[in-house]
Amino acid sequence: MASKNKVALVLSYQYPGKYALTVLAGAVEADAVGQDVALRFPRDRESLLAAVRECHDAGYRVVVAWSFYSASFPGAVEELAWLRERLEGREVLCIAGGVHATAETEQTLRGGFDLVAVGEGEPVLLELLGRLVRGEDPRQTRGMSKLVEGKVVSQGRGEGVVLDTYPPFAARHGMFGAIEITRGCIYACRFCQTPFLNKARFRHRSVENIARWTRVLRQAGKRDVRFITPTSMSYGTADESVNLEALERMLAAVREAMSPGGRVFYGTFPSEVRPEHVTPEALALLKRYVDNDNLIIGGQSGSERILRATHRGHDVETVVRAASLAVEAGFVPNVDFILGLPGEAPEDVRATLELMRRLSELGAKVHGHTFMPLPGTPYRDAPPGSVDEETQKELDRLASQGRLYGHWKQQVALANGIAARRQPRR
Ligand code: SF4
Repeated sequence: MASKNKVALVLSYQYPGKYALTVLAGAVEADAVGQDVALRFPRDRESLLAAVRECHDAGYRVVVAWSFYSASFPGAVEELAWLRERLEGREVLCIAGGVHATAETEQTLRGGFDLVAVGEGEPVLLELLGRLVRGEDPRQTRGMSKLVEGKVVSQGRGEGVVLDTYPPFAARHGMFGAIEITRGCIYACRFCQTPFLNKARFRHRSVENIARWTRVLRQAGKRDVRFITPTSMSYGTADESVNLEALERMLAAVREAMSPGGRVFYGTFPSEVRPEHVTPEALALLKRYVDNDNLIIGGQSGSERILRATHRGHDVETVVRAASLAVEAGFVPNVDFILGLPGEAPEDVRATLELMRRLSELGAKVHGHTFMPLPGTPYRDAPPGSVDEETQKELDRLASQGRLYGHWKQQVALANGIAARRQPRR
């Protein structure tokens, strides 16, 4: 048998990319190629540099990987340049993946990365590592794009991952995270990158697989389990319906796997519930199984016109009803809003502020975001979200009363940054 190369995968394990990198590390652990790959998880740039040097000097072929969102793209490019300047001639392969790299592949490659994994990362990364172990050319990996003589050469994209094939985290390396139970989204909210990256179809992890990994997490001493899904109440369905039976089977299995003493968080951070899915029956089911006392509900706008324009698929009264029902059931609804959505006129902004006040009087909390024109979405070329002075004052008033929270102020700058870096479509 041909000799194998020693390969090291060094992950730039920092917020927010670390969540995706945990999933990828889990895929490496679970695959045969993982036996020949050393994983490193440096959490800051000095440790990143140290890990890369150490692995290289110990004779490994080194791959350094980043995953980032559009707002953190400049930080990743800067870190890459910083690292390269300090490698003193050591050759390492620097790769990037994730939603921004997929949507803006050329910009990412020109930012200095050697290869960009397009689409879902697991199969692409595993093939790349296999090639390196066998001594084959990593630049031929399917799903990896590269620059050849200054032009982008695409080699397809990673897609169609079956969630049960891979663990949700890298337990053998002690790296845990929320369990991704559904990938892809059938809704087509125009500001959202999820359907673009993962296709407009739900793919669910099976109940047995979720329970298995929940047990692993609990046995590792973790007290809490959380879940990643585009829409919490869509578990087990292929369409807009809610399948409470499937949801109950899953939550019961999770509850059992976390016993004794573990806590189950569902319909809350880091995932949300669509307002039309909030019914007395759904809430009663959640009450039986979950430990969270808040629910995160997507509201997004108080303007019917803007809700229609963004293809949200629900109206204002549905949001109000969801919040009232949640309060009645003993949850604190946290309703998400996006300020500065494309096409908003002053009356739309007033309608949003009015809905925020109405919800907070019902006992809800309001979570404010500023609209970002995200690559890959139909709103990629829209103006960045802004918040006028009067609205700002009203938001500050709601915040001072403890009714509103969120990073909408910082997000104005992030939205402007994304728009400023935008390049014309080719
Ligand atoms: S905002 Fe939520 S429901 Fe809408 S497309 Fe994105 S993930 Fe799906």
